[in-house]
Amino acid sequence: MASSMSSASVDESWDELPPLPRDFRRVLVISAHPDDAEFAFGGSVARLVEGGSEVRYLVCTDGSLGGEDPGVDPADLGERRAAEQRAAAAHLGVASVAFLGLTDGAVENGLGLRRALSRAIRRHRPDLVLTHQPLRSLVFPIGASHPDHLAVGEAAMCAVFPDAGNPRAFPELLDEGLAPHKVSEIWVPGHEHTNFYVALAQRHAEAKLEAILLHESQFERSPSPAKEIGWVADRMSKYGRHADAGWAEGFVRVICATSAGPAD
Ligand SMILES: [Zn+2]
Repeated sequence: MASSMSSASVDESWDELPPLPRDFRRVLVISAHPDDAEFAFGGSVARLVEGGSEVRYLVCTDGSLGGEDPGVDPADLGERRAAEQRAAAAHLGVASVAFLGLTDGAVENGLGLRRALSRAIRRHRPDLVLTHQPLRSLVFPIGASHPDHLAVGEAAMCAVFPDAGNPRAFPELLDEGLAPHKVSEIWVPGHEHTNFYVALAQRHAEAKLEAILLHESQFERSPSPAKEIGWVADRMSKYGRHADAGWAEGFVRVICATSAGPAD
């Protein structure tokens, strides 16, 4: 894997990363498809885990539309992708992976999804939620704005505020023993609105690329999976210039504390 990153000139002995804005004890990653978490957040997950955060994944769909081969049985593919997701998460040190099992390609933001995400937030009580950008980008490649991503991103935002923190929202969750919980921050891929960078060491960047390649079912038609994801390393390297580091991931950082005023 290191060979795929050798074009970037990085001092491998350099290891003083700019600090994260605060400590995050618990982190919940809410994604639409198996592999989304690695593409969007893999380096940051590796860094957070290394720093002592407990990171958990919630994957909303079964991934059964991935790979674009009409001959593959959807249930078989879903099972295979779940196993790949578990392996990729384990590679990054993620504590647990859960699946909602929604049908790939058919996710809609609604009260059912908001309830399920609120349940997960109340159960895991994260300081930080990582999820999809809920706004369609007309500038970035269209895959970033998959309709499942937009729906999950918006539902996750709604679950963070107001649902998970308001005891009057989904009162049945109280009956399940799940007390309200207020999340401190959300990070979403920033696309053209990126305003926050998480600096990464080379080991974090490499772990991300390795984790992506564990989703083997998504690269079966590729003559060179490592080359196919070269753009991921290029983007991390480019973002690193904004982060005073060799590598970085870029986000919009949403502060949830309602006592804080609007951002300047
Ligand atoms: Zn996706």
